Amino acid sequence: MATKLPAINIKPGASAPSMTTSDPEAPNLWIHCNSCCEQYVQKKSKFFLLACHHVACDKCVKVCAGRTPTDAPVFECPVCRNKVRGRQVNNTMPSNFKQFFHPEPFSLNIEFITTFQMANHRHFDRVKEKKGAKAHKLQKDVDLAKSICQKGYCNLEIMRVERQKLSQRIRQIKIQVAKQKEENEKEKRLAAEICYGIQTQPKSGSGHGQERLRAKTVSPINKHCRNTSITSSSSSQKHKQVTSFRHQSNNSFNL
Ligand SMILES: [Zn+2]
Ligand SMILES: [Zn+2]
Repeated sequence: MATKLPAINIKPGASAPSMTTSDPEAPNLWIHCNSCCEQYVQKKSKFFLLACHHVACDKCVKVCAGRTPTDAPVFECPVCRNKVRGRQVNNTMPSNFKQFFHPEPFSLNIEFITTFQMANHRHFDRVKEKKGAKAHKLQKDVDLAKSICQKGYCNLEIMRVERQKLSQRIRQIKIQVAKQKEENEKEKRLAAEICYGIQTQPKSGSGHGQERLRAKTVSPINKHCRNTSITSSSSSQKHKQVTSFRHQSNNSFNL
């Protein structure tokens, strides 16, 4: 006597699987590709139940033989690599295949169906554990990266404050240097004015000494000028002697 199988709860366009027990997709969450672990409830691919009791999606399974109107297609199983026949998993599949996905397999009291579903549950649980461990590791990496970023940000803030302080200190030092330079210039000018005033001031009783000093320090050109003037005066005296028509008082002659 054939057992009437309940329909597999397949809703076209269903969203991603939810883990709540009230979800109608919950009984089918375990149905997954035994190769890539994509879930049936995601509705992204066609799924096939193969004669080797493996479930595979159309992305992983490979059609090995041409389909004929009276015969089921032959697939190469991506898990055990056997070339076997298979059926697409949907509500139109024959009842003897559909019962593999019965939501209460123990009620059927068919051992190989129970074994099939338990094996798929275990495999799916292992996949979930691996994904959970991977997600946990990723979360730890994210937390570590966050802490490093936070430390880096704190250090950056400290350095920014230090930079502001140093910039302010540089401005103060520049102002001080400018002031000091200005004071130095003033002092130099003042010292120069004082020196100039001392040099130009006449000293009493030292006129002859200054004259002597001036005579000593007279330049060769001036000397030359003076010599020239002396020579010219003596020659003029000679000229006077030669061209003089004056007669000596005690000298008489006839012209
Ligand atoms: Zn797959
Ligand atoms: Zn297989």
